[in-house]
Amino acid sequence: MNHKNAIKHPIFQYISQSAEELQLDCYVIGGFVRDYLLERGNAKDIDIVAVGSGIMLAQQVAHNSPTQPKVQVFKTYGTAMLRYNDIEVEFVGARKESYNEDSRNPVVENGTLKDDQNRRDFTINALALSLNKDNYGELLDPFNGLADLDKGIIRTPLDPDITYSDDPLRMMRAIRFATQLNFKIEETSLNAIANNKDRIKIITKERIVVELNKILESPKPSIGFIHLEKTGLLNYILPELTALKGIDEIEGQKHKDNFYHTLEVVDNISETTNNLWLRWAALLHDIGKAPTKKFSKKVGWTFHAHEFVGSKMVYKLFKRLKMPLNDKMKFVQKMVLMSSRPIVLASEVTDSAVRRLVFDAGDYVEDLMTLCEADITTKNPKKFKKYHNNFKIVRDKIVEVEERDRVRNFQPPVSGEEIMKTFNLKPSKEIGIIKEAIKEAILEGEIPNEYEAALELMIKKGTDLGLTIDD
Ligand code: ATP
Repeated sequence: MNHKNAIKHPIFQYISQSAEELQLDCYVIGGFVRDYLLERGNAKDIDIVAVGSGIMLAQQVAHNSPTQPKVQVFKTYGTAMLRYNDIEVEFVGARKESYNEDSRNPVVENGTLKDDQNRRDFTINALALSLNKDNYGELLDPFNGLADLDKGIIRTPLDPDITYSDDPLRMMRAIRFATQLNFKIEETSLNAIANNKDRIKIITKERIVVELNKILESPKPSIGFIHLEKTGLLNYILPELTALKGIDEIEGQKHKDNFYHTLEVVDNISETTNNLWLRWAALLHDIGKAPTKKFSKKVGWTFHAHEFVGSKMVYKLFKRLKMPLNDKMKFVQKMVLMSSRPIVLASEVTDSAVRRLVFDAGDYVEDLMTLCEADITTKNPKKFKKYHNNFKIVRDKIVEVEERDRVRNFQPPVSGEEIMKTFNLKPSKEIGIIKEAIKEAILEGEIPNEYEAALELMIKKGTDLGLTIDD
């Protein structure tokens, strides 16, 4: 079967023409071909293999294309890249690779298309389409990648033990593709990952996180985390999660398996949000439960202050994985810290409790509600309905309280400066006391969030503190 349709875009004509001028063969390979055959939409990254110099081909393509794009050359890797409108095209010369024990960077020599397909990680990523005049659009599939695409299988072209040992990042990639595409990893491959799990140590944290993020951004992230756990990789990457595994039983009292519960929460939240950091929050929301777990005869299993402990653990985890310690991390911490607040609230929804929730969560209050709804994993349909209803009431109440009291991103209705001026004060602790009293009165619903009412309370509080008004 010919696949000319895949390569209709004008960029392919320029590549084909340029290759002919240089008298070399070239092919489009990898993700572009895979995603076209899977009908996953038009990929914006195109990988081209030239049997010859990839850099020279890129320069010729730039010369022939009407947009005259700039060519970026990466001499050390023998690759080149150019942008054609919103498409990124990478060029590489076909190569043969051999590996050393301590590095995922191979020794490289020139090779044939077949050599280049051999070095690819999976059969579904080794598919190539010819861009040469005599067989334009022909699929070159030496490892039956097309059949694997049909069957939904991740398989390595060569011996998986060697493939994963050579470049252990491929273990993460296998699991990531299985999750993104909902594919099965062939059994021998899965065993080879388990055998080579310790090799993950030579991979940088940054690369591991790229794959973790892609797993989390998939429709059903649990597929990936279950593979990571079963192969032993998770214990190396996120031991905080494997520590949640298992059910303890003392005197007939059990707690749930918090690892599998967590994965359910992550899958649930992935149905309602694409926000990667909210998905991270779901993944980490219970990590404080392992270090805080206790059994007492009176109350059974407790995880006292696990939200606080968990939010502290988020920082250490991000730091260890060299993830950015920025607003995103703080957001995840906040979600973990507040993850039980709406649950406590749902049993009795008072105005003041809702005001406090909005005050503390600020603009993240909706995200927090989304997390708490995803956290409902009970298998009892009655309870499931009841909990969701309760959160619906909380959500409605948030809107109602918001309209009236505007406590989100709270700005005190009376400023510190006005307090100082009124009582002729220098900066002092009294100002803090008065401001706190006004905030508390608003949150408790004792006064409305308005200037006049706050002013009145300010005068009363100041007088109680023995201050006099400056005329
Ligand atoms: P995505 O864009 O979803 O990550 P992709 O397959 O395009 O998918 P890239 O990382 O852009 O992924 O890699 C392009 C191609 O290069 C792959 O399809 C595969 O053929 C090859 N490749 C990438 N990384 C490796 C690796 N670690 N080992 C072997 N081949 C690889």
